[in-house]
Order: sequence, then C-alpha cells, then structure tokens
Amino acid sequence: MNQVSEMLWHRLTGLMPGELKQSELGWLFSPHRHLSLLARRRAGLIVNRVRLFAFLFAVLTPLWSIIDFVVFPFPLWSQLAAMRFVASAAFASLLVYYRSNGDLFNAYRAMALLFAIPTVFYVASHTLLTHYQLTGMSAAIGAGYAFLPFVLLGGLAIFPLAIAESFVVASPILICQAVSGYLRWAAMDWPAFTGAFWLLVLITGVAALAGICQLAFMIALVRQAIRDPLTNAFSRSSGMEILDLHFTMAQRSNAPFALAFLDLDHFKRINDGYGHEAGDQALITMTEQVSRHMRHGDVLARWGGEEFLLIMPGTGIEQARTAIERLRSSGFGQRPEGGPVTASIGIAERRADHVGDWKRLVELADQRMYAAKQGGRDRVVCGVPEPEPGPVVASGQHTPAPAANPALA
Ligand code: GH3
Ligand code: MG
Ligand code: MG
Repeated sequence: MNQVSEMLWHRLTGLMPGELKQSELGWLFSPHRHLSLLARRRAGLIVNRVRLFAFLFAVLTPLWSIIDFVVFPFPLWSQLAAMRFVASAAFASLLVYYRSNGDLFNAYRAMALLFAIPTVFYVASHTLLTHYQLTGMSAAIGAGYAFLPFVLLGGLAIFPLAIAESFVVASPILICQAVSGYLRWAAMDWPAFTGAFWLLVLITGVAALAGICQLAFMIALVRQAIRDPLTNAFSRSSGMEILDLHFTMAQRSNAPFALAFLDLDHFKRINDGYGHEAGDQALITMTEQVSRHMRHGDVLARWGGEEFLLIMPGTGIEQARTAIERLRSSGFGQRPEGGPVTASIGIAERRADHVGDWKRLVELADQRMYAAKQGGRDRVVCGVPEPEPGPVVASGQHTPAPAANPALA
C-alpha cells in the first residue's frame, strides 16, 4: 500500500512544473507554508490582476447595453442597463480604491469583491429575465446571461492560486449553480443542466490548473529574485523587505526583534593570497555553516561582499547573544592558509536599544560591528553589558565584555 502511494506520488510530482524544488511542491496545494516574501508579492499580484479584471468589466459591462437596447422590449432593456451601470460603477470603484497592502487576506477580499459583483448582477438579471416571455433573437441573447458563471470560473485562470485556494473560490459559485438547479427542479431540462454543470466543473479544473502553473512559475521566479546566487542567502533587497515586514509586526505586538551584523575578518587576504575562487568558496561555506546552525525562523541576508545580516524575529537581546555565540562556536569554516574563518559581529535589538525603525537598527548593529573590529576582531559587541565574562569560543579567544553601548559612546 505504502509502495503504491509512493509510486503514485512520484508519478504525480513528475508531472509538476520542473522548475520547482521537491520542498516547494507542497506550496502548490496550500499557501500555508509559503515564505512571507512570496505571500507578499503574490498578494500584490492578485490585487493587481483583480484591478485589471475590474477595468475590463467596468468598460465591457455597460457596452452590452447597446445589444440589449436593440433586442429587448422596453422596459426590460432599460432595467438591464440600470443594472449594468451599477455593476460597472462597482467595478470602477474596485479599480480606483482597492490597493494591496501586502497582506494575503486583503488580496482574498479583493477577489471576493470581484466575484461578488457579477454574481449579484447575474442573480438580479436572471430573476428579471424570468418575468419575460422572450422569443427568437431576444431569447437567444437572454440565454447568454446564463453564461456568466462560466466567465467567472474561467477568470480564475488569471490568478496564481494554490489548489486549496481555487477550491475555496470556485465552490460557492458551483454550489450556487447546483442549488439554483435544484430549486427549478420541476421545470428543469435535466440533460441540459447536467451538461452545463459538467462543463462548469471542467472549466474550473482547467482554470485551477492554470492557476497552479502560474503559482509554480512565481515560486521559482521569487526564489531566484530573493536569493543571492553565490551563497543562496537572501539578497540585500529581499533582506530589506523582510526587515520591513518583521519589524512592523514586532512593533505592532511589541515583540523583541534582534539583528546581527557579521563582517568576515581579513577576508581580502584570502582573495589576495589564494584567488577570488577561494574567497567565493569561503563565503559559500560560511553561509552553509550559519544556515545549518541558525534557528528556524531566522533569516540570513548577504548585505554586501563579505557582510551578512542575521535577522532574528521574536528574539530578545540575551537570546540573540546566545544564538550568536552558538554560531561562533560551530565556526564559519576554514581559511585556505589554515585557521578558522572569523567574524566581527554587532548585535542590536529593537526594545533594548529603543529603536523606532529598522534602518536605525541596522545602523546600530553596523556601528557595533565596527566597534568589534576596532576591539581586535573575532568578537561580538552588544548594546548592553554582558551579565558575566564572555563564553569561550571555537577560535580559542574569550569574548571580552564590551563597555556599555560602545557604539553609542
Ligand atoms: P576586515 O577584517 O577589516 O573586515 O578586513 P577585510 O579584508 O575583510 O575587509 P575589506 O572590506 O577591506 O575587504 C572585503 C573584501 O571582500 C574585498 C573584496 O574583494 C572581497 N569580496 C567582496 N565580495 C566578494 C565576493 O563575492 N567574492 C570574493 N571572493 N570576494 C569578495
Ligand atoms: Mg566588509
Ligand atoms: Mg571584512
């Protein structure tokens, strides 16, 4: 049984877009574990697509009134025109007033509004049309109104959605369609209804597949855009985005938020003595070491050549110091000439340092990193004095207790 399910899983994942890594495949099913940066960019993209859709519908919906005017009797065409203008105004306000705030729920709400407008229009126009006995051309055009759910579900294809999300968006529309069929039970043309419903399900399936493919493509693109290609650490620009995101969250909940600024010591000597490639390799090893030993939820960003930021959300100053000492004792790799790669490190924390924005926090950590360089390198400088003499580190040196807030002195 286990073997069968494993084989099935293997076959299925083989069909998934090849640009994804194994660990990212689960992201196609649910947004639950998406990286915060991916969620933010996707939220922005979804809202923009909602606005694009709203623009298209704001223009096209009233235009159809011309056809209604030609084929329908008075007052039907005028009632439909009034409904169309209300719908168009609703689409236009969605286009004008809705903006992404980077939050996925804000994006879901935009989609819900986008789908709600034509749904209300559909129900209202459908109800109105049932009061008229239409024949010939006008009957054909009237029947066209029943195609709106198809347009809605087909429209799902323009959004980069996970399977669970497409399911949640599509099911109310499918359920409404099924319920409306059930309510018209007696006078129902069953074969036609079943055929139409099946078509609706198929369109939903195809649209959901298109959504998954877009999501896969987006995951790969975002991964490439946010990582530094040499070390696979986060790039500086994505590091800034992460800082902004987590700092704001920490401020909102008054949670601790720590940063460590790491600069490798005498790195130029590696390049000068052993070539640029040896330098590159040292950077790769260092990043691997840190990534292996940092805690889940921490983020390593390459800030400059051999300078890194370790972002530690939810971490107080003491915890940050302990975490950094642990990283130092696990080491940053070996220098080609022998001896360990070492780093000068400055730590700053939002609450302990009474800092109101992340740029100032980076500045503080950077200043303390310089203080660590001036103090003799291979050490940590923190804003607050250490409770007791510094612990022994792998390089064999003791971390000296820095003067209280040397960077600010
Ligand atoms: P200090 O202990 O004062 O930090 O000395 P340092 O030599 O590390 O400092 P400095 O800032 O003078 O030198 C950093 C060097 O890092 C200079 C640059 O050539 C090198 N570097 C920056 N980016 C890369 C890179 O991507 N690959 C390699 N191999 N070297 C890099
Ligand atoms: Mg440097
Ligand atoms: Mg350096």
